[in-house]
Amino acid sequence: MAETTPLYETYMRAPLRFERGEGVWLVAEDGSRYLDFAAGVAVNSLGHAHPHLVAALKDQAEKVWHLSNLYEIPGQEKLAKRLTDNTFADKVFFTNSGAEALECAIKTARRYQFAKGRTERFHVITFEGAFHGRTLATIAAGGQAKYLEGFGPKAPGFVQVPFGDLDAVKDAITEETAAILIEPIQGEGGIRPAPKAFLQALRDLCDEYGLMLIFDEVQCGVGRTGKLFAYEWSGIAPDILAAAKGIGGGFPLGACLATEEAASGMVAGTHGSTYGGNPLAMAVGNAVLDVVLGDGFLEHVRDVSLVFRQGLASLADRFPDVIEEIRGEGLMLGIKAVVPSADLLKAIRAEKMLAVPAGENVIRLLPPLITTAEEAREGLARIERASETLTAVKQRATA
Ligand SMILES: *Cc1c(COP(=O)(O)O)cnc(C)c1O
Repeated sequence: MAETTPLYETYMRAPLRFERGEGVWLVAEDGSRYLDFAAGVAVNSLGHAHPHLVAALKDQAEKVWHLSNLYEIPGQEKLAKRLTDNTFADKVFFTNSGAEALECAIKTARRYQFAKGRTERFHVITFEGAFHGRTLATIAAGGQAKYLEGFGPKAPGFVQVPFGDLDAVKDAITEETAAILIEPIQGEGGIRPAPKAFLQALRDLCDEYGLMLIFDEVQCGVGRTGKLFAYEWSGIAPDILAAAKGIGGGFPLGACLATEEAASGMVAGTHGSTYGGNPLAMAVGNAVLDVVLGDGFLEHVRDVSLVFRQGLASLADRFPDVIEEIRGEGLMLGIKAVVPSADLLKAIRAEKMLAVPAGENVIRLLPPLITTAEEAREGLARIERASETLTAVKQRATA
């Protein structure tokens, strides 16, 4: 890479340049092939260059790219109808990113309280280890000091409590509380699933106090856990849900889903987006759902997950000096490392496989949802070789 770059230096980029992708594979400029179990951080849900997505984008590109929300966009109605038919929600707002979906979710919750005449209620309770995006409101919601530092006063109205601590949530509820916001499975935080009973208890608290329950499913949604949305595993539903990442399969797309009641404050003029829900995004979003809602697809995700997860569990048994535990659901899995997770990530990359770092010394495995059992076993073989390398290094160090 050049010594100086015209780009903001906000990312520590790996010195890898990929030219194209095919399914679960990425091909670098030098022709080497990488097994992509990062999937652009859970974005490339159908892998790379999926023929149905490519065809949908090309077809729409020849018709009309952009219109603005001053006009009706049939693709929006179609995608929203499919999302509401298949979830708790009645209403959808389309965005271009996860953070924008969260902004819409937070605004929807506050506006709901406002419309009910409870104008003092604007606080949102969030959880330690959360990640909700990088806008000024979503860094306040995430509450991580490293993302807040130097950007002026934290946006008001966000209160944070320890993940999974119900008493702390109860203590945090005041006359000003509008909503509780949680990732059913924390992604950046280190693949930490919220216990089912905890989510149920949050639902009960929200019902008791008239609060909005918001789920951030930007990472865990759209088939990632083997259900269309992760909340389906919990037996309860939120009032508002933010989706993005996998919903566009690589095209920038997010969505805020809400019940009719929750969305009741979002009347004409209260929110907007220039690009949100544009025809290109809608064509791709609908194409993603064609596949994800297709017969047997989510079952496939659950089947491959089982193979992958069992394989990872046996690697954890065989390499106790490298792997502490396996966590997660579906194809949103984490390896909690014993060695520094950066070392494990590097060793895996040396085996030409991509994964994603996370908190709590965890590396995330987020393979495309089209991954076959055979490709999962290929991934396991590469993690096995990486673990052997690290074990050998460790033994040399102690010899
Ligand atoms: C990635 C992510 C976001 C932010 O999405 P952007 O598209 O980067 O704005 C929010 N919440 C969760 C859980 C995420 O994983």
